[in-house]
Amino acid sequence: MQWETVIGLEVHVQLATQSKIFSGASTAFGAAPNTQACAVDLGMPGVLPVLNEQAVAMAVQFGLAIHAEIPEVSVFDRKNYFYPDLPKGYQTSQMYHPIVGAGEVEISLDDGTTRRVRVHHAHLEEDAGKSLHEDFHGMTGIDLNRAGTPLLEIVSEPDMRSAREAAAYLKAIHAIVTYLGISDGNMAEGSMRCDVNVSVRPVGQAEYGTRAEVKNVNSFRFVERAIEYEVERQVELLEDGGKVVQETRLFDPDRDETRSMRTKEEANDYRYFPCPDLLPVVLDQAYVDHLREALPELPDEKRARFQAELGLSAYDAGVLSATREMAEFFEETKDTCGDAKLAANWVMGELAGALNREGLPISDSPVSARQLGELVARVMDDTINGKAAKQVFQALWNGQGKSADEVIEAKGLKQVTDSGAIEAMIDQVIADSPAQVAQYRDAEPDKRGKMIGYFVGQTMKASRGTANPQQVNALLKEKLDALC
Ligand code: ADP
Ligand code: MG
Repeated sequence: MQWETVIGLEVHVQLATQSKIFSGASTAFGAAPNTQACAVDLGMPGVLPVLNEQAVAMAVQFGLAIHAEIPEVSVFDRKNYFYPDLPKGYQTSQMYHPIVGAGEVEISLDDGTTRRVRVHHAHLEEDAGKSLHEDFHGMTGIDLNRAGTPLLEIVSEPDMRSAREAAAYLKAIHAIVTYLGISDGNMAEGSMRCDVNVSVRPVGQAEYGTRAEVKNVNSFRFVERAIEYEVERQVELLEDGGKVVQETRLFDPDRDETRSMRTKEEANDYRYFPCPDLLPVVLDQAYVDHLREALPELPDEKRARFQAELGLSAYDAGVLSATREMAEFFEETKDTCGDAKLAANWVMGELAGALNREGLPISDSPVSARQLGELVARVMDDTINGKAAKQVFQALWNGQGKSADEVIEAKGLKQVTDSGAIEAMIDQVIADSPAQVAQYRDAEPDKRGKMIGYFVGQTMKASRGTANPQQVNALLKEKLDALC
């Protein structure tokens, strides 16, 4: 039997507001426990929430970016449940009237194709606190700094059909929120986490199978691994005549497996009702239009422009627009040197290779976009050849100079294009290599092309890599053939 995988994601994005969604407490990450939770976040009696307008604006910007409907009215509801990290006894969320309606996200796959994933809706809610188990014996610590941090929960339709597609969708969401600047997207710090809903069904069957929901997965890689494990588990279960139960599971990255946490709760377990302390949010058209006009260029627009206007391949355009930092770095390099294709080659080649080796994000690159652009410009105007350019790059990477020009000067890497100087070096190499010259002369003319490599190498060495390789080749051929 052939099985098809069906996946829907609920992505939680922490919004990059200064203060919390219903209070004035700071949202900064990493403060000492419980120093950033005020009376509202602690759920003290008598306090009242005040909605943070920036959180509303950010949610609407996201909605506009995914071409979603923005309903005029949205409403906050109380989702009631008991847990130690939720002192109010309910989470303020939006159950029935979310701030963002149906939209869609374009995802791009490794083979260069693109697909659309529908978004069912996105709603605003508050984050809960954190339970800390590690530092306490026989007790649990509670840190309420995170309580009340604004979250945008983005709920997809079950439109994804593989782990790769799910990861590509998550990357697309990550790119959109970081391009918009509405989240720092830092998954390691929990700024973006997702619940992964997975089911399988026989190929050709119209109804969906029963799903399991894997909670709180916090990296692209873990999303893929959790799905791969779930698919295998569910297919095995079904093929053995069993049934998948609808439940909530946890992914354990150390053991690479998911484990049952609890059976799935129903909406009525939460006794949702509209929050009487908060007015419905009413957005007038002018406000939404104003936010629409202020939208920056978004990842898929940028990718399309890189192809259409800069002539980059679909693959290069995809890589260079994948994150805002990458796109900005590339564009500054290109603007500095004036050639998009060369800039793309250097950013995706030498630079990406070095960053990968050191495990550095592009934002921490020791070579700035400006420095790289200036270096590429020196290749373009023939000041240095390709080989010397790599040396200059390495020197800039190691901090041995402030600019390409400074390194070229200090290391004497300026390309030698003076044919008199090159000729002198060639004459010396020929004089020093009588055996190779004899071999060259005795070889069949069609074999000589290959043998010239030895002389090129010696001449380049004599010039410490600075001779113009095309000139060296042409002059050598002339001189050697004259000897035959
Ligand atoms: P709930 O409110 O119980 O969490 P929803 O209907 O809102 O359920 O769906 C939550 C998520 O689960 C959505 O992202 C949706 O696409 C996904 N989903 C729903 N049914 C399935 C299924 N059979 N297989 C995989 N994903 C599913
Ligand atoms: Mg859910």
